[in-house]
Amino acid sequence: MAEKRDYYEVLGVSKDASADEIKKAYRKLALQYHPDRNPGDKAAEEKFKEAAEAYDVLSDETKRKRYDQFGFAADQGGFGGGAGFSVEDIFRNFGDIFGGRFGGSAGGFGDIFGDFFGGGGGGGTRVEKGSDIRIKLKLTLEEIMTGVDKKVKINKLVACPDCHGKGAVSDADIKTCPDCHGSGYVVRQSRSIFGITQTQSVCTRCNGTGKIVAKPCHKCGGSGLVKAPEEIGFRVPAGVAQGMTLTVPGKGNAARNGGVNGDLFVLIEEETHKDFERDGNDLIYPLFISIPDAIDGCEVEIPAIGGKIKVKIPAGTQSGKVLRIKGKGIPDVNGYGKGDLHIYVQVWIPTKLTSEEKKLVEKLKDCESFKPIPSGEEKQSFFDRLKGFFK
Ligand SMILES: [Zn+2]
Ligand SMILES: [Zn+2]
Repeated sequence: MAEKRDYYEVLGVSKDASADEIKKAYRKLALQYHPDRNPGDKAAEEKFKEAAEAYDVLSDETKRKRYDQFGFAADQGGFGGGAGFSVEDIFRNFGDIFGGRFGGSAGGFGDIFGDFFGGGGGGGTRVEKGSDIRIKLKLTLEEIMTGVDKKVKINKLVACPDCHGKGAVSDADIKTCPDCHGSGYVVRQSRSIFGITQTQSVCTRCNGTGKIVAKPCHKCGGSGLVKAPEEIGFRVPAGVAQGMTLTVPGKGNAARNGGVNGDLFVLIEEETHKDFERDGNDLIYPLFISIPDAIDGCEVEIPAIGGKIKVKIPAGTQSGKVLRIKGKGIPDVNGYGKGDLHIYVQVWIPTKLTSEEKKLVEKLKDCESFKPIPSGEEKQSFFDRLKGFFK
């Protein structure tokens, strides 16, 4: 295992940082290394996990004290999860920290843990998590160029309006679970060569909630959930590509017993464009020019995304020449500048001619300059292009 960095160092705070400073530092790092902002970036994912682990310990007074005293050795005593954080765990535990980024209310995060601990039901009982929803979203190249605010209507599980998610006809019908006496856990003792071991497991009767429903709600049958349409708004950043997934935290299905919502995963699908082909962050545009224009040079206007571009074609341009216009491609999804626009020039050879035009062509056949005599340099550049095609 790689050597771990000091938790204070990870968050970039001093040893005597206040709880508020720790929270702020974590929020900043979590947003910076958020997987949606860094798709496919393993290093960013590791930083994201590292920050979550540091926050998990330093935000908890008991864990922090133990860490201050014993360092990482205290981990044996059970920092709980610690190094084993997965990205899913982080969203489940600290999910609300990311809420504002997709909610359309840029900037305002509110109290990052307010929602999460609010509905948990108190004590040590387990908070259930709703299932995730996956949808596909078609985007045009124009939308990808600028980024776009989208709204989707989804039929999803929401809290039952009759029982407000409790699953019971009335509050009086919710009883403390007799198996675990409301704790949500049952403790079993077993004897082995190491002595008596106690194992704690989630109570199966109440599913860890500590409560059971005596008279189930008629509308939802006691599940506390019903299907209903919901409109969900989120921002698609510029530069996304086919196959990328955006996470909209907390917009999946609701959970039973007032638990935490699942997430909404949006799979990006790119529509084909009538003028352009995409190659990473670059755009490819095929340009056909006439034989006289190729000989004389010309100025053409081509349809770029977000306004037309005037391009000068130099005199003597061969078919297959590629002109590169820097920065007119697609913005990088991680903010590393923009791709380029590549214009592939193709000289247009007519296939139908009038008798008048045929006579002109006959005359050209006798012209010395129209016989192809490529220089070594021109041959080499042709080979180079061919190699590019077969790569
Ligand atoms: Zn109900
Ligand atoms: Zn129980």
